[in-house]
Amino acid sequence: MKKHYQYIIIGAGCAGLQLAKALLQLSDTVVQSILLIEASETHIEKSWCFWYEKNHPYRHLVKKEWDAVEFVSDNYATIQNISPKSYQFINSLDFYNDCIASFTTDDRIEILYASVLAIEQLKLPAIITNNGTFTCDAVFFTNPKLVFNNYPKPNIWQHFVGWMIETDKETFDDTVATMMDFSIDNTKLISFVYVLPFSTSKALIECTIFSECVQETSHYEHILSNYISEKFTKNYRITSKEFGKIPMQLPPTNSTLPNNIVPIGTAAGCIKASTGYSFIRTMLHTNEIITAITNNQLAPKRQVKQRFTFYDALFLNIISSEPYKMKHIFYKLFKHNNLARVLLFLDEQTTLLQDAMIFLWLPKKPFLKALFKKIIS
Ligand SMILES: Cc1cc2nc3c(=O)[nH]c(=O)nc-3n(C[C@H](O)[C@H](O)[C@H](O)COP(=O)(O)OP(=O)(O)OC[C@H]3O[C@@H](n4cnc5c(N)ncnc54)[C@H](O)[C@@H]3O)c2cc1C
Repeated sequence: MKKHYQYIIIGAGCAGLQLAKALLQLSDTVVQSILLIEASETHIEKSWCFWYEKNHPYRHLVKKEWDAVEFVSDNYATIQNISPKSYQFINSLDFYNDCIASFTTDDRIEILYASVLAIEQLKLPAIITNNGTFTCDAVFFTNPKLVFNNYPKPNIWQHFVGWMIETDKETFDDTVATMMDFSIDNTKLISFVYVLPFSTSKALIECTIFSECVQETSHYEHILSNYISEKFTKNYRITSKEFGKIPMQLPPTNSTLPNNIVPIGTAAGCIKASTGYSFIRTMLHTNEIITAITNNQLAPKRQVKQRFTFYDALFLNIISSEPYKMKHIFYKLFKHNNLARVLLFLDEQTTLLQDAMIFLWLPKKPFLKALFKKIIS
């Protein structure tokens, strides 16, 4: 093993793998050596979904996509076509295997299974692991705790339990993905169900909650079993289960970092605080890094869009102080805006005027209270 690499990437997860793969697509005059350091030798399989146009570098990994997306609340349901985008599903294990397989045929990259203990900025960044110290021209890291001192614990998590179920009869409409079904009890916690039908007899159904504490598994499972039997069928088999939690947290401030220590993924704020989606945000940041490196520039830090971070902060504030209001807020959001507009807003691509039109329809009181709290804090 070498002691010095051009690039070191810490973390072979969503962001680290996307970046390593994209860097290796550049010529060997631009990218000569990469060390990818990963703490864990086993990958935990996850279901990754996102809405995006149909053409992107991970298209070959999309297992299922839906052009139509549904939002449901009490006495209200809307199904809308989101083309030219679609709602797409990737299995993270397919993504991991695809990336690792492409690395084995390129001798510019080495993978080291070790834990990074610290990143020190000497003349060059020095990466200290439990299996040696390495230097590099630039390091990319996903774990914020490695660099940001006093990185706060998230106050709010998005946590969920999902069941992949199969039925003997045709049960699901596999042309529509239900992004949020709020027609379940929300008196104490913000809970909704998410339905991804892979065929007419197979679907992933998840119960998602936004709150400070993860609940007992039985809580989500109770909601799931009631939901499935009321909405679909009592006769089904659970073929696999998924549990996950995603931090709902504002991006860390990275302004004091040297140019050759670059946050990516979670550390760069790629997980949108109000939704937990990160795959496409990570891909877009990866594209920015690759464009800069191709143009012989330093890898750019991800630019946080302050306006949208501010909206996310208000949203998180309401989740923590008045969670029972969220169901109504989501209902208003989806009732008065078409889905394409809501998705554009969540992608942080709406104009100020479009944002104003969106907020116009939302209940004012919770947002004003959240705004007031933000001003005095
Ligand atoms: C069950 C589940 C479902 C999800 N569904 C979606 C979805 O549908 N859509 C979506 O966009 N997002 C989804 N997410 C969120 C998404 O998985 C994360 O936002 C994304 O993985 C974050 O990417 P990352 O590279 O920053 O971190 P990770 O993918 O978590 O990767 C970080 C890697 O760094 C390694 N690491 C950490 N510290 C060190 C260290 N000190 N030394 C060496 N290695 C280290 C870890 O072992 C890990 O492999 C889901 C998450 C879960 C858990």
